Amino acid sequence: MKELLKNIFIPPLASRPVSALASHLLELHIPVFLVHQLVNDTRTGSGITPEHLRNCLRYLVKNGHNFVSLKDAIYALKNSKPLPEKPVVFTMDDGFMQQATITAPIFQEFNCPATFFVITDMLDRQLWPWDAKVSWLINNTKKQRIAIKFEDETLKLDLGNAEKKHLARYKTRDFIKETDMNTLSNSLEQVAAATGLSIPESPPEFYEPANWDIARKLEAGGFTFAPHSKTHRILSKMDEASARDEILGSWQRLTTELSDPLKVFCYPTGRPFDFGSREINILKDNDFLAAISTIPGYLTSLDNHELNLYALPRFDLPESMTDFIQYCTWIEFGKKTMHLY
Ligand SMILES: [Zn+2]
Repeated sequence: MKELLKNIFIPPLASRPVSALASHLLELHIPVFLVHQLVNDTRTGSGITPEHLRNCLRYLVKNGHNFVSLKDAIYALKNSKPLPEKPVVFTMDDGFMQQATITAPIFQEFNCPATFFVITDMLDRQLWPWDAKVSWLINNTKKQRIAIKFEDETLKLDLGNAEKKHLARYKTRDFIKETDMNTLSNSLEQVAAATGLSIPESPPEFYEPANWDIARKLEAGGFTFAPHSKTHRILSKMDEASARDEILGSWQRLTTELSDPLKVFCYPTGRPFDFGSREINILKDNDFLAAISTIPGYLTSLDNHELNLYALPRFDLPESMTDFIQYCTWIEFGKKTMHLY
């Protein structure tokens, strides 16, 4: 039914005159996109290619959208200041080298002031993220089927093809996200044991971290940097002192290394249950401007009471151009208003 409604409603709503009429609404419904690491080949699973990102940015330029920085969008919403017509915001999470060398230049081609949320221990070259390790182990095992023996449960996974591996990566990461983050290394060892591999001490090329020198160059080139924890562990699954250290420690590293970091925190993995009032209070007590999640939705000032500055919503950049166009027009907003889902 949902699919049917989608197909019936989208063509008329996307047509030019209606979109033009709705542009005043768009000013108040700003999509913020999260761009994950780009991939060159989507056959090995899902992902955004450099070409797709270029197509999305090209679409926005052609159709009169304006790139604004997350900082400007937040200030505008907080202070009810005007923004350029049809504003769109882009963000990147984690801080891998390839985001600096492949993704950032694409944003530069389009003069798009994107914001990097970085895992500061990664830029300090102390780690590569636990969830990247899970992905690497599952991608690289020769086994067609694995059983991961976690403390209370065994996770049985079929890795017979690219799609199944994709699902297995999600399932394993989601399973670990629910566990105590203090025993994270045990969980990773169990994944490694099941795959018959050992976790490389230094990261494979795809997961090579960026560094502070590169961050400084990008900052000078118009990009903004902001904290995304020290280690990318799930804050709600840690004790309070550790969660506080993840938040304040990552901010402290940014202020030491860069000239103008943005005091907006990005929760690791950012789902509603990955953070809570404890984290929000730490952020408020320490004068963070805002915090961003991965809860889908628009930045909006229409319902100020609903704008929770410490759980700002974002969309994953969709893999389909049709979905992307829908997010950038008022269709998603319209559908929500009409309670179509
Ligand atoms: Zn992340």
